[in-house]
Amino acid sequence: MSDKITIAIDGFSSCGKSTLARELARELHYVFIDSGAMYRGVTLHAIRTGCIVNKEINRRMLIHSLESIQLKFQLNPETKIPELILNGENVEQQIRTLEISNFVSPVAAIKEVREILVAQQRTMGLSGGIVMDGRDIGSVVFPNAELKLFITAEMSIRVERRYQELLYRGMKSSRKEVETNLTRRDHIDSTRKESPLTQTEDAIVIDNSEMNREQQLEVALELVEKAVTYLA
Ligand code: C5P
Repeated sequence: MSDKITIAIDGFSSCGKSTLARELARELHYVFIDSGAMYRGVTLHAIRTGCIVNKEINRRMLIHSLESIQLKFQLNPETKIPELILNGENVEQQIRTLEISNFVSPVAAIKEVREILVAQQRTMGLSGGIVMDGRDIGSVVFPNAELKLFITAEMSIRVERRYQELLYRGMKSSRKEVETNLTRRDHIDSTRKESPLTQTEDAIVIDNSEMNREQQLEVALELVEKAVTYLA
């Protein structure tokens, strides 16, 4: 039996889920999938094709346009980070803007969007050895994952992390705008009808407010070791 497990990482926005998932995957030689990038890709496509105009989402048009969206990940040879390819175009930078962050949660709340992306995510995880982060990974995408982590952090710390990330990417914003966006997304993500963000009973909570990246990784690696030993 393969000792490669499935690791599901969920939590609120900007808690460091993707950073942890990416580093875990690198350490373990697993595949890393940032499922949020896929919802962001659909949102970018929706804006570009006129499905979102004047802050209004044309739901019917968006659902219809889903068949013309092809998403995949491609490893950046320099950074070793998988980047999102939307219909053949690398859109890794474009999907990280505050504009996309402002529309992604209402788009991700649409049932038809979720059905298509969840099916693709499950296919990606068929052979195990995957670390996927998002909002519904432990509850819906991989309910049988051998290890489920739920990441939390204090709001002020999450705001600072996202603000610094936007700065690093050369995107102008303010801490206030970032906080408004995070609060709104948290609310939509955890109250929506379709697979809301929840902490499953079998998830292990990691509050990383007081941890740096190395400490967080160390804690998670110990949990992986326990999960693998338990299976052996
Ligand atoms: O992880 P990230 O913040 O990039 O995700 C962007 C948005 O995509 C989330 O705020 C949420 O609305 C949506 N999402 C989701 N389910 C996932 C991953 C992300 O609904 N599995």
